Amino acid sequence: MGRPKVAFFDFASCEGCQIEFTNYGDAATLELLKHVEIVEFREAMSEKTDGCIDIALIEGSFTREADRGRLEEIRRRARVVIAYGACAVTGGINALKNHQDDFHEVVYGDDALASHLHSGPARPISSAIRVDYEIKGCPICRDELLHVLSALLHDATPLIPTYPVCVECKRHETVCRYEEGDHCMGQVARAGCGAPCPADGIPCEACRGFVDDANLRALEKVLIERAGFSQKRAVGKARMFTANLRS
Ligand code: SF4
Ligand code: SF4
Ligand code: SF4
Repeated sequence: MGRPKVAFFDFASCEGCQIEFTNYGDAATLELLKHVEIVEFREAMSEKTDGCIDIALIEGSFTREADRGRLEEIRRRARVVIAYGACAVTGGINALKNHQDDFHEVVYGDDALASHLHSGPARPISSAIRVDYEIKGCPICRDELLHVLSALLHDATPLIPTYPVCVECKRHETVCRYEEGDHCMGQVARAGCGAPCPADGIPCEACRGFVDDANLRALEKVLIERAGFSQKRAVGKARMFTANLRS
């Protein structure tokens, strides 16, 4: 039996998650690449495939009805579909436009009416097709991608954390941003990244979305009372990567 065929596809995105993967030159990634055959990956190769795929990684949001057919075709051909990065998992930062009626004018100015720029609300890939696994983050993080792919190659179920980033932050004994007079959303952000942002002295912006049943009212209260945010700024901050989850 040949190596499992892996393909990367992109929809509405900055393609930063694909680029992030091309940055991984470490031993673990190179070892993984020995066990799969990459058959399509627009950021790194010109070959394309129209055959069956073992694992399809889909980056980007579903923002145009015209993309539904292509997504369904990928689903038909792929044994496993993974939504890859925040744009694909929740709509990501693209979903901010879902809350702003004049986004076309704000972004494209005089070209706002050009037909090729028409799009609807940014939605997760799972709103168009069945998705088997999600790799969160903006961009995705290497260890989680390797873990998920490795588990699938061994017919195991990947373990995706359900606890908040604060847990990983504490494990690394990182000084809390609030102790430095800063803000942070790690209390309700979904872990799995290893909390690199607080370790680098910057707040967690919850790029991986929120834990289940996150207490967002408490988050806003903390941002207001501990970090001095206005109500408007606190609500906007909490919506940055999770705009599809909020009204
Ligand atoms: S999740 Fe972030 S890095 Fe990945 S494609 Fe979307 S905007 Fe780019
Ligand atoms: S810095 Fe952020 S993630 Fe770390 S403990 Fe403080 S609130 Fe939690
Ligand atoms: S610490 Fe927060 S913002 Fe940074 S990668 Fe993790 S979830 Fe994303």
